[in-house]
Amino acid sequence: MPARFFTPKRRPDIPMTEERYREIYAMLNAVEVLEEDCGKLCGCACCTTENREGTDQEMGIYLLPGEETVHRDDGDWLTMTVDEEGRYFGRCATPPVCPREKRPIQCRTFPLLPHLCEDGSLEMVYNDVELPYRCPLIDEEIPLEDQFVEATQAAWEMLIRDPRIREIVREDSIERERSMMELMDKLF
Ligand code: SF4
Ligand code: SF4
Repeated sequence: MPARFFTPKRRPDIPMTEERYREIYAMLNAVEVLEEDCGKLCGCACCTTENREGTDQEMGIYLLPGEETVHRDDGDWLTMTVDEEGRYFGRCATPPVCPREKRPIQCRTFPLLPHLCEDGSLEMVYNDVELPYRCPLIDEEIPLEDQFVEATQAAWEMLIRDPRIREIVREDSIERERSMMELMDKLF
């Protein structure tokens, strides 16, 4: 894959700090993915995957680099562990119930994921990572609230100014494009 692809339009780096995370949390607190609670459509499927048949999955979510700083005092509902690569995993104590205004970024922006296009622009795409549950928003292509999509895009535009996060998004985007090209090759 040519290196010039997937290089985001360059703007100055701004490493994520606790303050910047709190700014993004506040922005996303103001929006909802649907007008109604989407958990009613599926029994909160994405928050109840623990020990689901055929999986040994823990109920929790990976935090983005630096996001652990926001959750230092949240041990009553989110237990953090760190792996050998320095990634923090937040294990939910009482899923699907948690303080909504404190949910980690990846809970808030699901079912959308950031994708860096070949020209360096950032787009939101539906989650295409294999999941141990079905999300009706994805399966039934239920239209998401415009404000949610806009705020999610704005949040990820801020997040990718941190080089650590930009690299994760870039690698995922390259992998996504590669998978799509392989699929196209098989089909045609
Ligand atoms: S995001 Fe999808 S899986 Fe999660 S609660 Fe909403 S509809 Fe259900
Ligand atoms: S933090 Fe909350 S929203 Fe996120 S997976 Fe846990 S229970 Fe669900």
